[in-house]
Amino acid sequence: MALLQISEPGMSTAPHQHRLAVGIDLGTTNSLVATVRSGVAETLADEDGNILLPSVVYYQENKTPLVGVPALEMSSSDPLNTISSIKRVLGRSVEDINSANELNPFSFVGTENSVPRINTALGPRTAVEISSDILLALKDRAEKTLGDNLIGAVITVPAYFDDSQRQATKDAATLAGLNVFRLLNEPTAAAIAYGLDQAAEGIIAVYDLGGGTFDVSILRLRKGVFEVMSTGGDSALGGDDFDQAIANWLLEVLDPSIREDEIAMRKLLSAARQAKEQLTQYASTTITVEGYPDAELTQEKFEQLIETYVKKTIAACRRALRDADIGKDEVSEIVMVGGSTRVPLVRKQVEKFFGKQPHTDIDPDRVVAIGAAIQADILAGNKPGDEMLLLDVIPLSLGIETMGGLVEKIIDRNTTIPVARAQEFTTYKDGQTAMRVHVLQGERELVSDCRSLATFDLTGIPPLVAGAAKIKVTFQVDADGLLSVSAQEVNTRVSASIQVKPSYGLSDKEIEAMLKASMDNAQQDMLARSLREEQVEADRVVEALNAALAKDGKQLLSAEELANITFKRDAVIEARTNADNPEQIKQSVKALEAASKNYVARRMDSSVRSMMQGHKVEEFET
Ligand code: ADP
Ligand code: MG
Repeated sequence: MALLQISEPGMSTAPHQHRLAVGIDLGTTNSLVATVRSGVAETLADEDGNILLPSVVYYQENKTPLVGVPALEMSSSDPLNTISSIKRVLGRSVEDINSANELNPFSFVGTENSVPRINTALGPRTAVEISSDILLALKDRAEKTLGDNLIGAVITVPAYFDDSQRQATKDAATLAGLNVFRLLNEPTAAAIAYGLDQAAEGIIAVYDLGGGTFDVSILRLRKGVFEVMSTGGDSALGGDDFDQAIANWLLEVLDPSIREDEIAMRKLLSAARQAKEQLTQYASTTITVEGYPDAELTQEKFEQLIETYVKKTIAACRRALRDADIGKDEVSEIVMVGGSTRVPLVRKQVEKFFGKQPHTDIDPDRVVAIGAAIQADILAGNKPGDEMLLLDVIPLSLGIETMGGLVEKIIDRNTTIPVARAQEFTTYKDGQTAMRVHVLQGERELVSDCRSLATFDLTGIPPLVAGAAKIKVTFQVDADGLLSVSAQEVNTRVSASIQVKPSYGLSDKEIEAMLKASMDNAQQDMLARSLREEQVEADRVVEALNAALAKDGKQLLSAEELANITFKRDAVIEARTNADNPEQIKQSVKALEAASKNYVARRMDSSVRSMMQGHKVEEFET
């Protein structure tokens, strides 16, 4: 019989109080997973104690792919089925890749809708699928260590990733069965790992030198919100270049003809890499290559070999500062990320350039994953009382209800906060003096599929013909995620407003569910939306026309004009009731509008004239 669990005194008896969530750094060279346990963020190791999972996948026919070290071991014997650096093409189209002037190490086959596929023994694989294999390995690792009730993950992406690269990252995670709480920018994650989000404000430079890429980001922190001011770097510069530089030197001192022997070259490179890593601790190191005398590499010589590369990174820092329009002395914190920032020369040069000591206490390989884990822990709800919820973007779109139960989005999801957006609306009926503003949250097109946040009325709108009043609705979300909505009639300036808390009411699980539903239903929704829109428009036009005709049709129109208008009106009613193609309704409305153009103009004139003459406006209400 299984043992029954008894809680500690004073603790809750409910099991699984802590909701399991992880942070994942999906890197070009290495990936890793971290979590917060008992309040401490830690990276998780595999059975052999490895924290870093090489971002390499090996494909074999009819077999589960190998990921990480075992895949890396196949790279020399079966290079075509060993895929590495897939992050370089994730979310990119064939055209993007071909036009990028960096070296393209992949051979693509069977491109479909311009999504590149790489041929492997397991068949053609997309970058999303390959990335998903890496994520799956990390998910397995997390579940082996923590148990399988993982509720979600925060996955990091480079700050410069565009929408399609971000979407591809999310797709890969979904494919791996992960619930993505949120994507987080890598530099932001690193800053969080150092607790820099706790400061009131400041400018942070994040220097990330990995295996094959260099990224620098300038972040501005204001009221707990990070804003990316600029990014820069070099997508073909990293620790691999340091290895190559040492290898080139070895060729010179040992024997230049080694270059011809591919296997010997690989060994040389791996010896070079070991030497580089040794030099982060020792002043000099001995390099042993089979069949040759030992070579001694001093720190000084090494620094000489890599100096131009390090200078390049500093130049990129200077450019990033210029792009952000920031002076060196305005930078309050510098964060070092990436395995290659262990190199002493790199640290020295960065410190010299900024004139400040950079943060290096947290292992530079792990710092991004640790920041992601801290963020995941908060999003999982493990920190009581919304404390330090880093709400840097709006998780779901915000909008208002328009006629026909439709939602008009005013602020799109993923917009960074704080933000303010305004849009003008108008009345639906002649003489309408009040308007109900219904505030909604969600991605779907119909009100019934979104979440209602608040409702308020704007009253005192001057009665005018439908469409003449101008009501400006403003949405404002502050840095805390608080939404205020105001509505104002532009001419009279009457206004009304309300404050709502849009994000706190929804758990991230619910947000994900809503997003998923919106994606699943997107096409159907669009059709339903345009049909509803056209029906509403048809109703509005017919209703307004009938009211107008009843009042002054006889005075303002000839019998012939009247007959023409009513004929076109009946065609609209017929289309509105029977057509399931929105375009058909639209055409009938257009025809009616064309027929009644002169009539509308005559009415506008007389309405405005009466108002100017000081007539009581009620006279024009229908
Ligand atoms: P990425 O972000 O591209 O996945 P990482 O941040 O994991 O890359 O960095 C990998 C690079 O860090 C490799 O070039 C590796 O050789 C280098 N590296 C790791 N440890 C050390 C060390 N002790 N000294 C110098 N370089 C190191
Ligand atoms: Mg990295």
